[in-house]
Amino acid sequence: MNAMVDASGPLSGARWPNRFRTLGTDFFTPLPPQGVPDPYWVAWSPECAELLGLAPQRPTDDATLHMLSGNALADGMAPLASVYSGHQFGVWAGQLGDGRAHWLGEMQTPSGPMEVQLKGAGLTPYSRMGDGRAVLRSSIREFLCSEAMAALGVPTTRALSITGSRLPVRREEVETAAVVTRVAPSFIRFGHFEHFAHTAEDRDALRRLTDFVIDTAYPECRDAAQPVVALLEAVTRRTAELMADWQAVGFCHGVMNTDNMSILGLTIDYGPFGFLDAFDPGHVCNHSDHQGRYAYARQPNVGFWNLHALAQALMPLIGDRDSALAALEPYRSAFPTAFLERMRAKLGLLEARDGDTALIEGLLERMARDATDYTIAFRRLARFDSGPGAANTEVRDLFLDREAFDAWAAGYAERLRAEGSVDAERAARMNLANPKFILRNHLAEVAIRDARGGDFSEVERLRTILARPFDEQAEHAAYADFPPAWANQIEVSCSS
Ligand code: AMP
Ligand code: MG
Repeated sequence: MNAMVDASGPLSGARWPNRFRTLGTDFFTPLPPQGVPDPYWVAWSPECAELLGLAPQRPTDDATLHMLSGNALADGMAPLASVYSGHQFGVWAGQLGDGRAHWLGEMQTPSGPMEVQLKGAGLTPYSRMGDGRAVLRSSIREFLCSEAMAALGVPTTRALSITGSRLPVRREEVETAAVVTRVAPSFIRFGHFEHFAHTAEDRDALRRLTDFVIDTAYPECRDAAQPVVALLEAVTRRTAELMADWQAVGFCHGVMNTDNMSILGLTIDYGPFGFLDAFDPGHVCNHSDHQGRYAYARQPNVGFWNLHALAQALMPLIGDRDSALAALEPYRSAFPTAFLERMRAKLGLLEARDGDTALIEGLLERMARDATDYTIAFRRLARFDSGPGAANTEVRDLFLDREAFDAWAAGYAERLRAEGSVDAERAARMNLANPKFILRNHLAEVAIRDARGGDFSEVERLRTILARPFDEQAEHAAYADFPPAWANQIEVSCSS
């Protein structure tokens, strides 16, 4: 392993600069990945490859396979693992860090510099009790969901590839190792700021980190009267948008610790996440979350809580509490505004009118009471007939309390008529706002089961279906169906 040979192949042309390195070694430990024995390809994302300016096809050369497994470095690569801290489940956890992630460096892409990172390629000084590894199961979940979220239009880190190995990795049982190649403009987390606010004696490191993030990711904040306050407000707004995206698409992250919050407002660190099947505001996707702290309906508040932790970390630079609180304040209106906007789109409404919130809440309450499938219900609503006396059986049948649905449907039809909505046009709009295909747990489970047996075709099939979540893809109707009975027996935990 870790042959450190120069690699050729499509990634070898990059120079691999890494602006994060300029922050200095208080921020990271330079170290090569350890790699895995006899790696093989498990998955490749043509969309992510194109984002990086690469050819969409999976490379066929061994050099790239080894590079993306941590066994070889390209010329110019100087990998590192970064240090951060964080609040886990509401409690200060102290120093954490990239326990199993190596930043390889940046590629210059059509959409700007992109950091490329390996996850699962071995121990780092921040591995604590962990083994620096990731198992095939969790790697497939991270890969598929990263790419699915991107296709859904939700800000996220991306995944280029998975490679696998026979290397045994012990979790609840013995599994095998895999390495995910992740891509993002930056992997900096709220926890990076918390680390330097809580541990460094001088404020210089915190100042350098903040300047770095402003210069590289939020240049518009540089000219503000108080750049750090402006940064906090910008992150607040992006986080509010992200929470609205998650809620609207029915995504539960599962581990919204501050070390899992991206400073860019990206979805990051896919672990025990889950999409809602039946609509349940109290749904807890992470079986290790016994208190339900990160339940679906709590996510927007947790996002706000996490922003307070970020504000606290920035306090030494901001100075006065009132300015920090003022930067957080927009969340209170930005989240509900963004959420309402998305829900209006999901209902195909073009205008904003009084009563829209009540209309949306009325639907969600009925869905919660009747455990209606969230994704299927919205998708079927596209075909809602707003004409007087229309039965709308297709969507009505999803509810147990049909009269309650009828009462809501009458209000919806009236609301549509009030803005002169044309059903066919609305249907087309709604099909672009309501995905047909999401990464339901049971779909991932089947792909994982096959992959463990050496068959990766289902991972590939799911990837291609989820790359076009709004398209009908009639041939794949089964992937848009209700979850089977065994789906609610699936347990996903922090173990990954
Ligand atoms: P997570 O809850 O997955 O975000 O992980 C929390 C912290 O534990 C992060 O700093 C991770 O890098 C680290 N970590 C998680 N799993 C492992 C592992 N298998 N080996 C080393 N570090 C890990
Ligand atoms: Mg994490």
